[in-house]
Amino acid sequence: MSRVATTRSLGSLLIIDDSMVQRAHAATLCRELGVPLIYEAASGREALELLGLLVLPPDLLIVDLEMPGMDGVELIQQLHQRKLAIPLIVASGREMTLIHSVEIMARNLGLPVLAGLQKPLTPLPLEAALQRFAQVARSVAEPQPAGPDAAAGISRATLASAIACGEIRVHYQPKVDMRTGIVRGVEALARWHRHGIGFVRPDRFVALAEQEELIHELTLAVMSQALAQAAEWNARGLKLSMAINLSQRLLDRPALVDEVAALVERQGLRAEQLVLEITESTLADRMGTALGVLARLRLKGFGLSIDDYGTGFSSMQQLARIPFTELKIDRSFVHGAHQRNNLRVILQSALEMACQLGLVTVAEGVETLEDWRLLQQGGCGIGQGYLIAKPMPANEMPQWLKRHQARLGDLRQDADPEKPPRLADDPR
Ligand code: C2E
Ligand code: CA
Ligand code: CA
Repeated sequence: MSRVATTRSLGSLLIIDDSMVQRAHAATLCRELGVPLIYEAASGREALELLGLLVLPPDLLIVDLEMPGMDGVELIQQLHQRKLAIPLIVASGREMTLIHSVEIMARNLGLPVLAGLQKPLTPLPLEAALQRFAQVARSVAEPQPAGPDAAAGISRATLASAIACGEIRVHYQPKVDMRTGIVRGVEALARWHRHGIGFVRPDRFVALAEQEELIHELTLAVMSQALAQAAEWNARGLKLSMAINLSQRLLDRPALVDEVAALVERQGLRAEQLVLEITESTLADRMGTALGVLARLRLKGFGLSIDDYGTGFSSMQQLARIPFTELKIDRSFVHGAHQRNNLRVILQSALEMACQLGLVTVAEGVETLEDWRLLQQGGCGIGQGYLIAKPMPANEMPQWLKRHQARLGDLRQDADPEKPPRLADDPR
C-alpha cells in the first residue's frame, strides 16, 4: 500500500460507525495508508458533538449509513445545515444503488463527496478515494469563481447597482441536436465580475437577488441582453433558440407575462424562439399561482422547460398538468451515467416519460463522449455541457462555431467509434 500521494495533505479524519469492529477495521486501514490523526464516533450525534468541540475540524469524514438514532443520511443533512462542508466518503454494507443515491443527495446539498464505498472497506478503493482528497480539498479551499461566502458580504445596494449598471453580463452555452451535433440554441447564464474583486458565483448572487427581492430586476436585465443578442444573431442568419432561467418567485407575478411579451416584441422576435427554464424542485408547493402564469406564457407561444429534472419531487401527473414543452435532465443524472446502473435507469425512464408526454428532451452536464453516446442511444434530443462548450461571451461564439463545425462528424450518431474525437476547444 502506498503512503505517499494519499496522505501528503490529509492530516486527520473522522470515522463515524456504530459498529466497533468496522470502526477499528477502517481506522487500521487509514493508519496503514499514512493518515496521522484518526478520530472515531459511534453515532451521528456523537460526530456532531465532536465536530462542535474540535478547534480544527478533521479533513475528511467516513460516514456509515445505518446507525441507530441519527442515521448517515440525517447526519449529512445536519452537516449541510451547519454549513460544515467537510469532504466525505459514504460507506455502507448496503447495496451500491443506495450508496450512490446518498452520494447524489450529498452532492446536491453542495457537500464534497470523495466516494461511496461498500463495507467492509478494502485497501484499494479506500486508497483511491483518499487520493481524491487533494483535488477536492483544493476546490473547497479556493472556490473558483469567488467562494460561497463571496456573496454573503454583498449588500442589496451593491447588487442593485450592479444590475442597473449592466455589470452583470450574459454568457451563452450552446444546446446541440444529439443526432447531428448541430447547434439549435443557447442557454443564457448570468455572470457577475465585480470590479477589482473577482467573480461571484451565479448560484450565490441569484439566491441573494431572490432574498433581496431583486430577482425581477435581475431576470429582466438578463432577458433584455439575451434577447438583443438573439436579434443580432438572427440578423446575421444564425437563428438560435434562447433559453432563460426563470426563478419560481417570478411566477407569483401575473404582470410577468406581459413584461416578457413586451421585451420579445421590442426585439422583433417570435415567442417560439424563447424558452423559459423553471426549476422542477420549486414548482410543487406553489402550483396554484404558478399554473396561471405558466399557462399564459405557453398560450403566448413561449417554450417552457422543466429545469434540473430529477432533483425535485414532481409526479408524472403534475408534469402532465403543466404545459411544459421541454424536459431538462439534471446533470447529476447525466454525467457518469454510463458507469452507474442506477443513474442509467433514471435517465432512461426520464427520457421515455418525456417522449410519452411529447416533450423535447435536453440533457445538461454532458462532459464526456461516453455520456454523449449513452444519451444518443437513449434517444435524447438535445445535449448541453462541457463536452460541447462551456458558457462563453457572445463575441466568442463565431470562433467556437467554426471549431464546432469541424468536429460535427465525430458527434454524429453514425460516427466511427474507433476514431478519436476532437475536444471542444481543440483548434485543429
Ligand atoms: P442551471 O440552470 O442548472 O444552469 C446550468 C449550470 O450548469 C450552469 O452553471 C453551467 O455553467 C453549468 N454547466 C453546464 N455544462 C456543464 C458541464 O458539462 N459540467 C458541469 N459541471 N457544469 C456544467 P452556472 O452558470 O454556474 O449557473 C448556476 C445556476 O445559477 C444555474 O443553474 C441557474 O439555476 C442559476 N442562474 C444562472 N443564471 C441565471 C439567471 O439569469 N437567472 C436565474 N434565475 N438563475 C440563473
Ligand atoms: Ca437552466
Ligand atoms: Ca441544472
